[in-house]
Amino acid sequence: MEKLIIGSHVSFTKNEGLIGSVNEALSYGENTFMFYTGAPQNTIRAQIDEAKTKEAQKLMKENNIDINNVIIHAPYIVNLANNMDEQKYNFAINFLKQELQRAKILGINKVVLHPGSHTGLGEEKGIQNIINALNIVLSEPEGPIICLETMAGKGTELGTTFEQLNQIIAGINNKDRVQICLDTCHLNDAGYDVKNFDNLLDEFDKIIGLDKIGCIHINDSKNKISSHKDRHENIGLGTIGFDNLINIIYNDKLKEVPKILETPFISIAGGKDRTYAPYKFEIEMIKNRQYNPNFLEDIRKYYKKF
Ligand code: FE
Ligand code: FE
Ligand code: ZN
Repeated sequence: MEKLIIGSHVSFTKNEGLIGSVNEALSYGENTFMFYTGAPQNTIRAQIDEAKTKEAQKLMKENNIDINNVIIHAPYIVNLANNMDEQKYNFAINFLKQELQRAKILGINKVVLHPGSHTGLGEEKGIQNIINALNIVLSEPEGPIICLETMAGKGTELGTTFEQLNQIIAGINNKDRVQICLDTCHLNDAGYDVKNFDNLLDEFDKIIGLDKIGCIHINDSKNKISSHKDRHENIGLGTIGFDNLINIIYNDKLKEVPKILETPFISIAGGKDRTYAPYKFEIEMIKNRQYNPNFLEDIRKYYKKF
């Protein structure tokens, strides 16, 4: 069997903790997963339950989930690029420090972070703010790695080019603790041609180095290349397309890198506004390397039973 490290965004609740996340991932047929330690849009975080964490780690071992491939995503409101409000900037730095502490308690080694938006300060100042913040956050020689995510370039987002990301890494003292998370939708929207993925990897290798790729977010895109929109689409339904995503997922150079789906949930007509995770079905197509043109229908049929 060919090695494929694949998972998706799953939930992490106060009640179930990491056990719930593991079980959700297993229910989709995954061997890794990613989660937020609370709501992605706020910074309210509960204490990590150590007993439940131990049990979850055991569950992972029993099911061949290597915890080194499991990812935490930092909340997206943390903005290290803007220091106009000193209190907010310091809060973001402290929050991230605590997030790394939570990761450590959970036994998780990789935390994905959006580098930040300069919100008018300009690229250079924004990047310097990110560097200064990360040097505080990563002051300890050892601890979880921060994976800076490649961004779509919405608004004043930074980290939209390999050059910007490299500039951030260059400024960080503790370089062993920074890696990159590629996001296929963001790359496309930022103007990178993910359909020629080998060329893209060559360019990445020249500027940053392939050994720095710590995670890949697998998403189709609702918009065309260079749109700077950041709207994810389900696998095969967007402008990137199924075959191009399969090419990325099964690229020989990325065998050891965890791949995480963040595709949109599916709504069911008459389903009381509830939406359902598409991951079980998308992962099945990925494993089969075969697009199922009826997969949205299959998802709706499947979840109607509940
Ligand atoms: Fe992200
Ligand atoms: Fe992403
Ligand atoms: Zn996105």
